[in-house]
Amino acid sequence: MHMLEYFEAEKLLRIYGLSPIRSKYVSSAQEAASFSDGDEIVLKVLSDKAVHKSKAGLVIAGLKGEDEITRGYEELARKGKGFAPFRIIAQDMAKKGTEIIIGGKIDGQFGSMIMVGLGGIYVEAFKDVSLRVCPITEYDAMQMLDDLRSRDIITGGGEYKNMIIDLLMKVSRMFGEAGLKELDLNPVIVRKGGYDIVDIRMVK
Ligand code: ADP
Ligand code: MG
Repeated sequence: MHMLEYFEAEKLLRIYGLSPIRSKYVSSAQEAASFSDGDEIVLKVLSDKAVHKSKAGLVIAGLKGEDEITRGYEELARKGKGFAPFRIIAQDMAKKGTEIIIGGKIDGQFGSMIMVGLGGIYVEAFKDVSLRVCPITEYDAMQMLDDLRSRDIITGGGEYKNMIIDLLMKVSRMFGEAGLKELDLNPVIVRKGGYDIVDIRMVK
């Protein structure tokens, strides 16, 4: 069992028609600033030793302009030393939306399973997730969403239901076929007309 490196995981998502948010490893504040090109960005420390990055203060969102980005970069370069070896990744800042989790796991009895629910802190707070055996049909994906108490929040009152159904089917195919043991896309930020996958964890 090993965790896939971020860009290896990204590549696998792309093969299955999923598009992760624009990201790049940066090794200086200057590189981070030029990645931003004037827009807000997010900087994060990635390390196998940091499972909950934000809890450890390893995610800084909404950085804009050379000064802010430089300060953010320097802070993470300092904090990252506690989690060495580590890398700093720069990402576009996702537009506002609802954070959902799409995950996968191997169940001792049922094999590959896909999971969906409200993302972020709500995963643990509400235990409102729904699970199915991979691969799922379109009908299964629809039922997965209908089973959730949070279905209206997750689907924007149904407005982006079809988009999430499409995401679930692609993830289910990937998880079943690619020999993954664990998968967490947490969060996928969903909104009318689009989504952003901003945190990827894959174990093979
Ligand atoms: P972790 O789950 O390890 O704490 P994440 O990468 O999921 O780290 O980041 C924590 C939170 O920060 C996310 O749930 C989301 O709210 C926010 N976040 C992370 N990356 C982005 C991004 N690119 N754009 C907007 N918000 C982000
Ligand atoms: Mg996360």
